[in-house]
Amino acid sequence: MAEQNPGRNPVRAEVVVDLDHLRHNVALLAARAGSADTLAVVKADAYGHGAVPVARAALEAGATWLGSCSLDEALALRAAGIEAPVLSWLDTPGTDLAAGVAAGIDLGVSSVDQLRGLSGARLHLKIDTGLSRNGCPPQDWPELVAAAAASENEVYAIWSHLACADEPDHPSVDAQAKRFADAHDVALAAGLTPKRHLANSAATLLRPDLHFDMVRVGIAMYGLNPVPQREDLRPVMSFRSSVALTKRLPAGESVSYGHTWTADRDTTVALVPVGYADGVPRLLSGRMEVLLAGRRRPVRGRVCMDQVVVDCGDDEVAVGAEVVLFGDGSRGEPTATEWAEAIGTIDYEVVTGMYRPRVVRRYPGAR
Ligand SMILES: *Cc1c(COP(=O)(O)O)cnc(C)c1O
Repeated sequence: MAEQNPGRNPVRAEVVVDLDHLRHNVALLAARAGSADTLAVVKADAYGHGAVPVARAALEAGATWLGSCSLDEALALRAAGIEAPVLSWLDTPGTDLAAGVAAGIDLGVSSVDQLRGLSGARLHLKIDTGLSRNGCPPQDWPELVAAAAASENEVYAIWSHLACADEPDHPSVDAQAKRFADAHDVALAAGLTPKRHLANSAATLLRPDLHFDMVRVGIAMYGLNPVPQREDLRPVMSFRSSVALTKRLPAGESVSYGHTWTADRDTTVALVPVGYADGVPRLLSGRMEVLLAGRRRPVRGRVCMDQVVVDCGDDEVAVGAEVVLFGDGSRGEPTATEWAEAIGTIDYEVVTGMYRPRVVRRYPGAR
């Protein structure tokens, strides 16, 4: 990836989305999916990466479907001129689904209620096989299947979502697969011949037997590995800033709110103008490092709303120098996964949390 661009001013808070990495990951996942279609999940503005550029790059690299959580997200793809099939799966009552049908958006349906008033739609009936979240519970499934079959809509597919696919030996995966097979039998008995999809990223990587007609990949496409084994995935997002100010701090001086850190020697500190308003979790206070002037250096004291302070020891650090908060790790910088582990969450939350109005996005690999 390009180093600091000489023609540009130092950035304040910038998310760089490497679409070459995204295309690499999608190609890898599509190859693993074999003959199954690959649906690229671009919900939540593509996990914070930007839905439209990500969708375009994913389609270039072998995805043939897109998935979004709401019709608004799906229609934004259409408004950008993207014509690939899009599945939208979680709309609130009162959403104008007819507008989605008119735009050729496929709809996920979990209840008979959601079918009411729908016609001319292409449906993906969702069976709850054990996640107990969205989806139709097995006891209501025959009724939903019958109602959909009798409606003026096309039942394109049945589908479900796995709870523990990232734990290879978790017994729930097979239990969910069994319920999914039963649900398919009910659909066949009702005269339907739907396609099937069940696998998320983890199941795409671990369970070829569950690929069926399509896989739905999210996190792995963004280069974050959900499975225990090593995979050649390349993190797509990096987060950068620049040094705004440097100063020499005498021994005995303390840093940031609460004075939780005190210098035990004279040291040079660099002020970096990003904080929890820009997606740096305050919980990382005292537990994070950044890449600055060629090496990792610790952030001292508390993470503030708009700033963090980096301890540079006796090294010369230039105002305006690039600071990498997280990236793909190839230059030794922290990764989003490292942040997540440090604060007891998952990398999904870290990257999705970078969707902030103050953080600029850049797409160096855009075609
Ligand atoms: C978010 C989501 C996915 C993608 O999950 P990953 O673990 O990110 O691959 C797939 N299917 C559904 C229904 C989802 O909500």
